[in-house]
Amino acid sequence: KAKEAGRATYHFFEPGMDAKLQERRALEVDLRKAIEMDELELYYQPLIRLETNEISGFEALVRWQHPTRGTVSPADFIPLAEETGLIGAIGNWVLNRACADATAWPSHIKVAVNLSPLQFKNNALVLQVVAALGNSGLSGQRLELEITEAVMLHDTDATIAMLNDLRALGVRISMDDFGTGYSSLGYLRKFPFDKIKIDRSFIQDLSANPDSIAIVRAVANIGSALGMATTAEGVETEAELAQLRHEGCTEVQGYLFSKPRPAKEIHSLLARETCALQQVAV
Ligand code: C2E
Ligand code: MG
Ligand code: MG
Ligand code: MG
Repeated sequence: KAKEAGRATYHFFEPGMDAKLQERRALEVDLRKAIEMDELELYYQPLIRLETNEISGFEALVRWQHPTRGTVSPADFIPLAEETGLIGAIGNWVLNRACADATAWPSHIKVAVNLSPLQFKNNALVLQVVAALGNSGLSGQRLELEITEAVMLHDTDATIAMLNDLRALGVRISMDDFGTGYSSLGYLRKFPFDKIKIDRSFIQDLSANPDSIAIVRAVANIGSALGMATTAEGVETEAELAQLRHEGCTEVQGYLFSKPRPAKEIHSLLARETCALQQVAV
């Protein structure tokens, strides 16, 4: 058949491709089952507000506990979910799980949820957010949605309209991984962001590269001028923390404070926050 012929040709030019395709297809089949089999789990990583040195919220990061493969990284399965259309179901599951989990936290603690650009292609997205808030009873003010610059590549007017509808619910919008991909200052003017998350690559580079310091400083200044919070992602050292504080970032996130942890550990994270954070503060 044509399909098999095509694959045979492929195989001729790229040995090993067949095995890769088969592996991908197997992973796709497994991913389809993962939601109903309850194999997905949310981990949470604290966001720390530098003005108070206190946890202001947690970012939800999805984990897949595969029965035989072990933990599969979202960096591996989110792209697959996007290619196969499974991102819609996964994204909606994440949204509902995160809102439900956050209702168990103190009311000043927010939850941040990552959205795939593809979720903005679905007209029902705003209604799904309304439903997740309604079903959980979480106030819209406690939800932050993180989107990447790739969102801008799609229908800009429709995306802006959806972002405005979401903000009307009290939900805050964060620009994730800022500085990578298709960054444009124009987007910051066009889109109603509440927060800029500076990509980890700039933070990693801080001590070695004065240019990264200049870039972080500039982004913090832009954020401040535009009334947006600025979060530094991937803070791992005291030196980075001191530098970021000096440059005027308003929030930090990284292994220095905590790796992403299961939901059941949130309360102990909040309990130890005062002593642990005061050490890394000032
Ligand atoms: P992201 O949204 O930029 O999330 C931050 C990533 O940086 C997380 O990786 C986190 O574990 C990692 N990280 C945080 N602090 C540090 C640090 O100090 N050092 C290092 N080396 N890494 C740090 P993770 O959990 O593997 O997630 C990777 C990406 O997968 C996320 O990047 C996000 O783009 C995507 N993702 C995760 N969960 C979801 C989800 O529920 N929906 C969607 N659409 N994407 C998700
Ligand atoms: Mg994120
Ligand atoms: Mg990020
Ligand atoms: Mg990132």
